Amino acid sequence: MNDKSAYIGRKPCGCVMGVVTDLGNRFTAETVASFIKDGLVVNHISWDKYREVAREPTFMECSHGQLPLALEGVDIPPALEEIAAEEENE
Ligand SMILES: [Zn+2]
Repeated sequence: MNDKSAYIGRKPCGCVMGVVTDLGNRFTAETVASFIKDGLVVNHISWDKYREVAREPTFMECSHGQLPLALEGVDIPPALEEIAAEEENE
């Protein structure tokens, strides 16, 4: 079990281009606000759901020419490495 959660922000094209771990603090709120300001549609998701989203082929790599947003200083969940490690154990 993992009770962590995350906020993701999707571009209008559908690609997830913003992600931040939900730390329940001001930093999280400000990051989410910046996603919204940048035009992303924000969703609050469980860690399990986040693991699914992180497998999407366009995760943080928009194929529509959009650049990632608000990544600097953002606490990006270590999902990709974490998922890879977990899958090796399965
Ligand atoms: Zn895209």
